[in-house]
Amino acid sequence: MFNKKNTYEQHDNESGSFYRSSIKPYNSLDLLNEDLEVDVCVVGGGLTGVSSALNLAKKGYSVAICESRLIGWGASGRNGGQLGIGMRKDQPYIEKKLGFDHAKELWKMGLESVEEALKLISEYNISCNLQKGVISAGCFETDIKDFDNEINHLEKYYNFTNHKILTKKMIKEEINSELYFSGLINYGSYHINPLKYLLGITEELKKYNVKIFENSPVSKLIEKNDHILTYVNQNLITSNYVVVGCNGYLDKLLGNIRSKFMPINNYIIATEPLGEKKAKEIIKNNHAVCDTRFIIDYYRFSEDWRMIFGGGETYSAKFLHNSKIFVW
Ligand SMILES: Cc1cc2nc3c(=O)[nH]c(=O)nc-3n(C[C@H](O)[C@H](O)[C@H](O)COP(=O)(O)OP(=O)(O)OC[C@H]3O[C@@H](n4cnc5c(N)ncnc54)[C@H](O)[C@@H]3O)c2cc1C
Repeated sequence: MFNKKNTYEQHDNESGSFYRSSIKPYNSLDLLNEDLEVDVCVVGGGLTGVSSALNLAKKGYSVAICESRLIGWGASGRNGGQLGIGMRKDQPYIEKKLGFDHAKELWKMGLESVEEALKLISEYNISCNLQKGVISAGCFETDIKDFDNEINHLEKYYNFTNHKILTKKMIKEEINSELYFSGLINYGSYHINPLKYLLGITEELKKYNVKIFENSPVSKLIEKNDHILTYVNQNLITSNYVVVGCNGYLDKLLGNIRSKFMPINNYIIATEPLGEKKAKEIIKNNHAVCDTRFIIDYYRFSEDWRMIFGGGETYSAKFLHNSKIFVW
């Protein structure tokens, strides 16, 4: 059923990407042409790999990253750019499933992760078009009641007041569409160009002498008693620890785990630049938007006023060739 190709190879023949065209290629100068020993080998150059590398290197570990293609090749360099605080489900739902204390821990984690991203953007002066506010746009008449309950609950139990409810009239003013019955603006969430953000963090790795090997797919990991062998092209990296940050591109690298997760692909496209005036006629205050359906539509404007629009899902290890028709 699954493709014979490695999942990351499915992006090889893509015709172009807005995010890629918005950055200067990173082009790491590190080349792995001999065997290497490090404390930690990180597999995958997305947000998981790069931020693990940064945090480990700051603690004094020697670190090497192996990325099959280019930094940001996977989801981190091709996502919706929404930097959101919340979970997919609201807090009362999570409380029912996991209990209040656990739900509160998860809520705090959401707040902290946005805080951490904002801190990195400011500390490293990352120019990634940071914009405030994400609107949850209600596709159903009953959504306003749910938004109201959510706001009250978050105020009462989480001391969170950074929300604003939008009535039908108000959401029409924010988003020029007939689709929505109501909305909820979350001012604690933001949107960014995710690839610029990732490369901004990657740049910092140089200060800590992290080796970054692009075009270096890992073909095998072998665990020995007191070290791990990582096979990369013709070379071998020996390390005490390995961080595997391959996301849904993992394939068989960790053996049977592959049969325990289900690939869910989501698709995103960018329009031509529409100009600031047109963009603000569509989304008045340049917030990002996601709707309340099970398979969501989500969109926002880029730094050059393209609409970045995501939606649709497929459930297979094979990506669609023409996502444009599917998403739009
Ligand atoms: C279309 C889309 C929209 C999304 N929108 C949002 C959003 O708006 N907000 C949000 O918070 N999240 C969003 N997400 C989710 C988010 O992008 C991911 O959760 C996040 O980027 C995962 O980061 P990662 O580093 O774990 O994985 P990835 O960024 O996917 O990185 C994995 C890396 O591993 C590499 N790799 C794989 N196999 C090997 C190997 N054998 N050897 C070496 N390297 C290998 C790949 O090339 C890839 O670069 C979206 C995801 C998608 C697909």
